[in-house]
Amino acid sequence: MVHWVHIARALDQAVLHRDRCLQVPSGPTSSDFWEGGWFQYPDKETALDALEQAGTSKQLKCPLCKP
Ligand SMILES: [Zn+2]
Repeated sequence: MVHWVHIARALDQAVLHRDRCLQVPSGPTSSDFWEGGWFQYPDKETALDALEQAGTSKQLKCPLCKP
């Protein structure tokens, strides 16, 4: 199942989401690794790796979709 990582550098946090979460944008997004944005991964393992490597001090799981 597709998972998403939302990196918010301004908040110094990264959040893991499941596909179809209400917070996942439906249209195209501009994502820049250094500024943040939404990043899609083909499975949860890959997404968790990305979450750990995001470099943010807070690494969270979405309270809405509970990935
Ligand atoms: Zn979510």
